[in-house]
Amino acid sequence: MSRHTGSVCRQCRREGLKLYLKGDKCYTDKCPVTKRNYAPGEHGQGRKKLSNYGQQLREKQKVRRYYGITEKAIRKYFARADSMEGITGEDLLKLFELRLDNAIYRLGLGSSRPEARQLVNHGHFLVNGKKVDIPSYELSVGDVIEVRDKSKKSPKFKELVEAHQGNIPQWLQVDADNLNGKVIAEPSREDIELPIEEHLIVEWYSK
Ligand code: SF4
Repeated sequence: MSRHTGSVCRQCRREGLKLYLKGDKCYTDKCPVTKRNYAPGEHGQGRKKLSNYGQQLREKQKVRRYYGITEKAIRKYFARADSMEGITGEDLLKLFELRLDNAIYRLGLGSSRPEARQLVNHGHFLVNGKKVDIPSYELSVGDVIEVRDKSKKSPKFKELVEAHQGNIPQWLQVDADNLNGKVIAEPSREDIELPIEEHLIVEWYSK
């Protein structure tokens, strides 16, 4: 399954919650989830009680859409999490959090995860002094992420990071003046903001 290219707001309405895919609009009353919190389509207002299969499907779709991960990639992440020593569901979420595009968003250097992914693709960031333009790049504790000197001229990053102050998860540290951030710990379960029952995702991929 490839990455979704249609209306991202429909994805939030399908999942019945805000996935914060549109930046500023997500925080205004223009957000379609605020205005119409029911699934899109003809039968959207008649949500049915889901079977166990349906619940598992919805949880994995929710997390996939939230982090912007393709089906193929999520299967690889699951295989890795399954081989790790911790709790598989938590390890899976930790791997998603450690993606470079997610960290850029969490540092406030992108207004949404989709925008952060695009900014990474366009080569605006360095990791430990080297340009990295792979959104799925996996960060480790100690890594330093910074906006490239050329890109620092744009007022955009400064404005974004200042607006995001006070919202940084505990596993990241930000230096708003110098537009950089550091991974100071591994993300923990408490750092995941999405309401998610990860055991249902584990059940889905364990079949
Ligand atoms: Fe659209 Fe953002 Fe609202 Fe989701 S949270 S429906 S992406 S405006």
